[in-house]
Amino acid sequence: MSEPRRACVIGWPAGHSRSPLIHNYWIRQHGLAGEYRQEAVPPDRFADFVRHLAAHGYVGANVTIPHKEAALALSQPDARAEAVGAANTLWLDGGALRSTNTDVEGFLANLDEAAPSWRRARRALVLGAGGAARAVVFGLIERGIADICVANRTVARAAALRERFGARVRPAPWEDIPRLMAGADLLVNTTSLGMAGQPALALDLSPLPADAVVADLVYVPLETALLRAAQARGLAVADGLGMLLHQAVRGFSLWFGVRPSVTPDLRRLVEADLEPKG
Ligand code: NAP
Repeated sequence: MSEPRRACVIGWPAGHSRSPLIHNYWIRQHGLAGEYRQEAVPPDRFADFVRHLAAHGYVGANVTIPHKEAALALSQPDARAEAVGAANTLWLDGGALRSTNTDVEGFLANLDEAAPSWRRARRALVLGAGGAARAVVFGLIERGIADICVANRTVARAAALRERFGARVRPAPWEDIPRLMAGADLLVNTTSLGMAGQPALALDLSPLPADAVVADLVYVPLETALLRAAQARGLAVADGLGMLLHQAVRGFSLWFGVRPSVTPDLRRLVEADLEPKG
């Protein structure tokens, strides 16, 4: 019998992560001898922990706040992690510690599944210019989107995305959003606006074309004011939970050797966990 394979999520704190729920569901579903754990590791112990990942009993790991940049620096990143400037998935490949950023494919796979008409998009409007925006912009470039407008409250951070990704990215001030919506086939919220505890993202979506697609990365709450407004206009939408589930697929495949599926059953399980308690 083969040794059980183990992976974990490393964060500080680590308790908020839904990754154990997702990966342990797939382990059970596929009848594997494996386990996915949570490891709360403070920043000053992170480098030592990942350098000795195998000694801790792991074949790989997810990395969450605040370790994603350190994970990149301590590993051999692929093109996606390098471009995004952060790694969220680590795996041991022989003696090497390799990394990727699965938010890129999570974002793209979720759009492909939830709103396939997005493939016709030529112009995207991305709201926000933080870590999640870098993954989204890189994914859109990978898929050939020629014109990517990035509107951010701090316009200098949007300009930094143009520096990083080139002339397809057009930085814009937040106030320009209504004007920019008129020509956008795809609107993506990558800001934390709309998240529980944050102000809502209150936008009048009427300038968007009738066949535009709206994606929100926020998944707590599941249905944001932005997605509600898009659905009220009859637009196709892709939600943040779909991205979260799809981004987990690659790590599981790398660690456990089986490519899992994002099923309605898994989605219901995580939805139930996201519901406010009490
Ligand atoms: P981040 O690096 O901290 O960036 C936050 C972004 O939100 C910045 O662009 C910031 O603008 C903007 N923002 C914050 N408060 C604002 C306000 N009051 N008005 C306008 N803009 C505001 O965070 P992140 O890592 O990119 O994450 C952003 C969101 O994506 C979070 O909700 C996170 O949970 C979600 N996310 C979801 C997934 C998924 O799988 N679904 C994956 C990754 C991230 P400034 O630059 O002006 O501060």
